[in-house]
Amino acid sequence: MRVVAIDGPVGSGKSTVAKAVAERLDLPYMESGAMYRVAALAALRRGIDPEAEGAADALTELVAEVDMEVGDRVLLDGVDVTADLRSKQVGRAVSAVAAMPGVRSELVRRQREWAEEHGGGVIEGRDIGSVVFPDAELKVFLTASAGERARRRELDETADDLARRDLLDSTRAVSPLIVPQGAVVVDTTARPIDEVVDEIVAMLK
Ligand code: C5P
Repeated sequence: MRVVAIDGPVGSGKSTVAKAVAERLDLPYMESGAMYRVAALAALRRGIDPEAEGAADALTELVAEVDMEVGDRVLLDGVDVTADLRSKQVGRAVSAVAAMPGVRSELVRRQREWAEEHGGGVIEGRDIGSVVFPDAELKVFLTASAGERARRRELDETADDLARRDLLDSTRAVSPLIVPQGAVVVDTTARPIDEVVDEIVAMLK
């Protein structure tokens, strides 16, 4: 099974780069963040406040029972929710949902299942190289300057929301955002996408 793991903070270029690498290698692409966003959306729709006391149990139960499909379109219980995943509400709730150990273990299980079913893939997220696929053929950790990351995300979230999400993601107890052991760190600041993609694809040969 061929797995390329691409991790990094918000706005580091993960989605754009991972999609292009997948295309070049003719491998399927998976955005693990979409699973966490679906979980956050499901929680909001059920009226579960992820920061409230007792939320961990409710969220763990919820994530185990929902059906999710992650691909070009993202489905929650068979309904296309792709357009809802980028809302401000989901963006503000997702990191708290993703910090729950019960949520993570279920979604990690689903990510591994996805890779098995697809025979591998280019998978992006926060803990793909460190936890989900520590034996990936290639692990890449993307970074970019804070200013550039904020600029790339400015249509979707404020610089404060971005900083809050990064802080929560990198300081949580379970599977925090770290540079995985054996990962190649690639700074995407002011670099054309094609150049970054060429660099990553060349690492595989
Ligand atoms: O990739 P994206 O920014 O859409 O991810 C949304 C959120 O999902 C992240 O801020 C993080 O809290 C969570 N996430 C995670 N582990 C992953 C992917 C995403 O905790 N592998």
